[in-house]
Amino acid sequence: MNSHEDLSIKKRFGTCSKDCYGSCVFQGVWNDFAPERKFLYAKPSTTHPFTNGFFCSKLNHREDLIYHSKRLKKSFIRDGPKGENNFKPITLENALDKINKKVCDIQNKYGSTSIIAAFSAGNYGLLSRYAPLRFFGKLGAKITYGGICNEGGCAGLTKLFGTYSTTNPFQLINPSTKLIVVWGSDLSNRNIHAYYLVKKAIENGAKLVVIDSRFTQIAQKSDLFIHTYPGTDHLLAQLIIKYLVSYNYDKEFLIQNVDNYNLLIEEVLNIDESRILSQLGNKIQSINNFVKLLVENRHHTIFNVGYGVQKDYSGGRIVQTIALIPIILGNFGKPGTGLIYSQSDFNNRFIPPLLEYIAQSSKHSAIPGINLINLGHALMSEEYKLLFIYNFNPASSLPNQNQIRQSLSKEDLFVVVQELFFNETTKYADIVIPSKFDLESHDLITPYYIPGLSINEAGPCPYPDCLSNYELYQRLARKFGWLNDSIFQEDEMSIIQNCLKLLPSNIQKNIRAQGYHLLFNQNDIPFKDLSFPTSNGRIQASGSYFQFGKNKFFERKEKEFFLISPSHKYFIHSQLGQINHQYLEVFKKIFLNKIDIENLGLEIGEEVLVSNEYGKCKYILGELMSLKTGMALIYSGSPSASKRNLNVNFLTPDIPEESGLSGAYNSAIVTINKLK
Ligand code: SF4
Repeated sequence: MNSHEDLSIKKRFGTCSKDCYGSCVFQGVWNDFAPERKFLYAKPSTTHPFTNGFFCSKLNHREDLIYHSKRLKKSFIRDGPKGENNFKPITLENALDKINKKVCDIQNKYGSTSIIAAFSAGNYGLLSRYAPLRFFGKLGAKITYGGICNEGGCAGLTKLFGTYSTTNPFQLINPSTKLIVVWGSDLSNRNIHAYYLVKKAIENGAKLVVIDSRFTQIAQKSDLFIHTYPGTDHLLAQLIIKYLVSYNYDKEFLIQNVDNYNLLIEEVLNIDESRILSQLGNKIQSINNFVKLLVENRHHTIFNVGYGVQKDYSGGRIVQTIALIPIILGNFGKPGTGLIYSQSDFNNRFIPPLLEYIAQSSKHSAIPGINLINLGHALMSEEYKLLFIYNFNPASSLPNQNQIRQSLSKEDLFVVVQELFFNETTKYADIVIPSKFDLESHDLITPYYIPGLSINEAGPCPYPDCLSNYELYQRLARKFGWLNDSIFQEDEMSIIQNCLKLLPSNIQKNIRAQGYHLLFNQNDIPFKDLSFPTSNGRIQASGSYFQFGKNKFFERKEKEFFLISPSHKYFIHSQLGQINHQYLEVFKKIFLNKIDIENLGLEIGEEVLVSNEYGKCKYILGELMSLKTGMALIYSGSPSASKRNLNVNFLTPDIPEESGLSGAYNSAIVTINKLK
């Protein structure tokens, strides 16, 4: 490196903005003067106690994604029927003019509420998600609320604790932790930093129990593994609670901290043990062994519950029932105890003023909206004429793809998509605007596994037509004649600086000095005083906990299969296909246990027809011995924009989880037939 190059090297704070537990913090190394590959590499932080100096294998080389040859660098306008990525290039200025004209026409003819913006967590940055709301709020349009991930479970836990975040995940490695229960969470593939902590705890003598519908990599490290069917986790939890109540529980904790605990115990005593045992199909011995471990390690056990268990019609209550186990044992407020689910509610201690500022919500009335999970259904009505999509790939991620694609195909729905690459959703766009990558925009990231805040300091984007989400709507606001409105005059850097000023001084200082702030030190124990944010500070155990949910085990007919759709190790939902293309073949397959393949008279590698009431697709049959018999697996996503419309969500139900806030993806049942 010569001295000129040396001077051009810049280091910037970065955070991985993917919808991932890691929210890895790093130092980005840039050459601002390079003609194209300005971002050179990312060095994971060694001081951040969760990032711990390493990235996951799927994003070790994010620079290859940023400068990928297929990245969108120009705007495009539809040049053919919807349903295919048929476009011709258009200048950015022309694209913005056309969008502006469409907004004006539709606003005049149908009113502002016929315009809707749909967004999700494709980029987890606060500005990326919420700064466009300055535009939509002023326009009087609608937006989507809620999500498609963990919201049902959050609602369930909030009913108990007044919050869904109760535990500091660093307690996994507290010396007091003697037992870790990983329930429905594929840490080894989806949350490798927590997996690292669990492995450290095991080295220090902690025992591990894994409960899952798949024998995952982390299950191989467990002292006890319990294999469940999707949607039956609450039955297992009920049985364990029943055994604990008859055997050994923390009555004193319940008296002190749980409202209506006596009603809960009454309900527990009515649980029909033999019925549940026959429904679960698990060996009583493994359940007894689990209960024994829980009793032996009472006040030293921590649960890590994954989001898959709540992707069910009764998802919130499934998570709630699991949470009753640590409650019955008094496993809260002590070192090495608690239940880890989503920790994002801790961030709500400081986020609301930031969101208020980013969206400038005080400058407009509350933005009306619909639940994201209902988007397909809503778009089928005549109500909506213009749809903006950013940070979201609904033609991959939403359930009941036949419906969502039918709604996106409507000729009277004008669709504007802001994207990095052509994908399944751009197939339905009228105009596509090229997006900046996360590292090319200033942003703040609020992790949902390790509570805190971190920053992205934008480096230069070599493609002048690529815009950040905020920049797109800032430009449209100007086209709209809102030049003098101060909320559209700020650039991203000023928004970040003003947001930082709204934070307590210690958070500001840490962000400026190291790029991140963590809410907890490793030894911190939230709710140590056992005062939860409920109406009276106590855990709320009122209501019926155990009599809910249909029993899918018996609903499944012979030759039907429970279908699960986890993410694949090398992809984040529908992203990363460009750099992990060697694994794309996996999306052509449906996996079954070998015994089921034999029973169906099928052969590995043959093409089969997978169908249910929502749709049908052809898949190649693959074998996965980690699955329980009676289960089928298709990986979620399919990041390609190929002509072959393969996506597991053609088969997943759009009936939401009962809270209405998220999906019931794992409530799908399918049949698998030989192709004639
Ligand atoms: S995808 Fe997750 S684990 Fe991988 S680098 Fe990003 S935040 Fe870290």
